[in-house]
Amino acid sequence: MVTEEELKNMTPEEIAELQRKQCVFCKIIRGEIPSRKAYEDDKVISILDINPASKGHLLVMTKEHHPILPVIPGEVAAHMFRTTKHLVKALKQAMVTLRATIFIANGVVAGQQSPHFLYHLIPREENDGLDNFNIPSNEFKEEEVKQHLSALKSKVGLMMKEYKAGKKSRSGGAKQDSKPFSQYDLAKFIDEHPEVKEKIINQPEEFKKELEANPELKKMFRGININKLSVALSQIKK
Ligand SMILES: [Zn+2]
Repeated sequence: MVTEEELKNMTPEEIAELQRKQCVFCKIIRGEIPSRKAYEDDKVISILDINPASKGHLLVMTKEHHPILPVIPGEVAAHMFRTTKHLVKALKQAMVTLRATIFIANGVVAGQQSPHFLYHLIPREENDGLDNFNIPSNEFKEEEVKQHLSALKSKVGLMMKEYKAGKKSRSGGAKQDSKPFSQYDLAKFIDEHPEVKEKIINQPEEFKKELEANPELKKMFRGININKLSVALSQIKK
């Protein structure tokens, strides 16, 4: 057992290694715990769930230990989903059902129960008595919807831009500019996030601290003089 004190003194790499060592699913993958494998390649593995909801209930996971979906490398995540497509097809051949519920929970709050990201592939039959995940319908104020959507759109846009830029530089293109976000992107981002704008104008020092604590935000504002930006934004505001 590792004590709290020991844990505090560990590097993130050491903690990750410890998680790998203790993870039940990593033990299954290493063969230290027996399992019933349905499929395995160099990246993913699929085993029968020991508490199946239906006949052929599979767990699909990466062979590397990844605690949550966002940290899985893109090509591995893509391969994982491709594999799922073939598993669903195989279910049809083997069990005469093309219908399956794929249950993905990312994070404990969302219902993720394992420390190793995985998803459930549950073959379904008519009147099998299993619950379908009924998504409740909630109402939100138009203002809230606008805020969520605008924040989401700008974030996804920036991430995809970064992803494409990364792809281009990997495929042997010209070396990427060390500043992945254009001033246009940044202006758009500030415009779409009034709370960020207010902070830069009124509390530039506080905002700098936030940048230090948030690597993603820091990357966006790389090379930007926050004090100058603060003055510029307050002048535009007037
Ligand atoms: Zn694991």
